[in-house]
Amino acid sequence: MERNYTKLWWQHCLAIVGFSVIPLLIVNLSLHALFNDIYTDKVSENLLNRVEARRDTLDLFLNERVAQIYTVAHTNKISDLIDEAYLGRVFSIMHAKSDSYVDIGVIDKAGNHLAYVGPYYDVLKSANYKNEPWFYAVMSQGLYISDVFMGYRHYPHFIIAVLIREKNETWILRLTINLKNVDDIVQKAWIGTLSDAFIINSTNQLQTLPRFGGEYLSAPIFKRFGKGTDNGNIPYPDLSATAKTRVERMSIQGNDVFIAAASVRSSAWVLVSKESPDEILSPLAQGSFWMYLLTAAGLLAICTGAALFTNALINRIRETDRENAANSDMLLQANKMIALSKMAAGIAHEVNNPLASIAENAGWMKDLLVEEDLTANPNIKEFSDAVDKIEQHVDRARKVIHNLLGFARRMEPAKEKINVNNLLDETTGFLENEARYVNIQIEKDYADDVPTITSDLSQIQQVVLNLLNNAIDAIGSNGVVTVGSRYLAKSNEVEIRIADTGKGMTEAELNKIFDPFFTTKEIGKGTGLGLSISYSIIEKLGGKIKVQSTVGEGTIFTIILPKH
Ligand code: ADP
Ligand code: MG
Repeated sequence: MERNYTKLWWQHCLAIVGFSVIPLLIVNLSLHALFNDIYTDKVSENLLNRVEARRDTLDLFLNERVAQIYTVAHTNKISDLIDEAYLGRVFSIMHAKSDSYVDIGVIDKAGNHLAYVGPYYDVLKSANYKNEPWFYAVMSQGLYISDVFMGYRHYPHFIIAVLIREKNETWILRLTINLKNVDDIVQKAWIGTLSDAFIINSTNQLQTLPRFGGEYLSAPIFKRFGKGTDNGNIPYPDLSATAKTRVERMSIQGNDVFIAAASVRSSAWVLVSKESPDEILSPLAQGSFWMYLLTAAGLLAICTGAALFTNALINRIRETDRENAANSDMLLQANKMIALSKMAAGIAHEVNNPLASIAENAGWMKDLLVEEDLTANPNIKEFSDAVDKIEQHVDRARKVIHNLLGFARRMEPAKEKINVNNLLDETTGFLENEARYVNIQIEKDYADDVPTITSDLSQIQQVVLNLLNNAIDAIGSNGVVTVGSRYLAKSNEVEIRIADTGKGMTEAELNKIFDPFFTTKEIGKGTGLGLSISYSIIEKLGGKIKVQSTVGEGTIFTIILPKH
């Protein structure tokens, strides 16, 4: 059976690729996933740590302010504090080493300002706080840190207030904290160019100005980045209920973000920090890129290696198949040829004797025609012609016998001197009748300078016969087969050419014609062995066989044989 080498090629190649690529991919992908997880965890942890550190700084800041206010409240007499000149001196001492306060005020239990030092004197000195929420809170709790609010000054600020008791009387010492201090602490949480951080109160109102979206006391707004992004009103999820700390990778309307939040201990605030994964995970993306690149390079190497290896393997198999086919078929052929040659020798011998006798008698008759006085005979001309014809035909029969004997002798494998043109003549002679019958002309195009070569005559004859048979088959009927020879002086080789005007071959056929059992002829007509055997014979004789073909125009087979 003819093997499908292309299919075999793919099977082998895919098997090799499959067995090496699948483990490679499994290992790479799982390592990548693992690395991804670990790295993301690390980044989250880092983010949380930073938010906690900011939160702790903020707590420290607030605690220090509270401590300072307590100190002022408890180390001064209320009668001194309500003196605005005295209060002004106290405030300038508090203010001296830090820029933490905006103003200071002493308020009585009816909510009226008794003394005020600060930039809003005109607005606030006459203000009454009795109905303000912070006023209730401090009266009931003793100490109060407010959220950010607008107040009478219509400007965002927040206050810390403590109760002062003296002889059953109560006053309130109230300080406005400079929001810039809080902003500074929060802004240190911005790391990347896309990160943001802000504080919200228990009702999700902004207490500081975020980097990208939202006003004081409004809900924080998320901003998308990138070209052509619509930044409608995308709110952050409400994180005001954060109990301690949290970090999460989440999607805000399809936008991937890291959010970390920590609740401030000394107030009801929550510090929120947002990071873009694109930014903080960029080393990971870079790692992925290299992994994909290396994997791709690995795949390429595997595929190339597999293809090269498979090519070599399939070529070997093809070669072995050819040799096997040639060996088995040649044995059969050789046996047939030996039988045939014996028969030919026998026939030649048997027919030679009668032929000799006919020739002798014809000669004698010729002599007689001259010697006797038969010239007067009116049929003398016809006698003479008949005798000539007998001699001609005997001559022809002798040539046939000669060929037969030559053929018989040649069956022994040998290295002999061969006249290539004679060999071609004899071999075409075998097929001339058959060719004439289907109107195929055999033309000869021999070079005169073709030298004798040393090779195996019968094997070359077998090859030429195969090629001639194929040429005649390819033409079918009406066409020309040209048999040619040439001496290639430069390489000291002889070229034999058999060209036909037959149907030609496609590229796909050309690739297969030397494969054993490849045939396009119907069952019983073609064996598919002719060319495969010819190929291995010529190769064994140290020569080459080549083919050129054009569909619809014809085919040229070229055999090149070394002179020795
Ligand atoms: P077979 O003659 O038994 O088919 P061969 O090995 O001699 O086997 O040839 C194999 C095939 O190669 C043929 O079936 C034919 O398709 C193609 N072939 C060979 N010689 C020619 C030619 N001269 N022109 C066209 N096709 C050819
Ligand atoms: Mg053939």
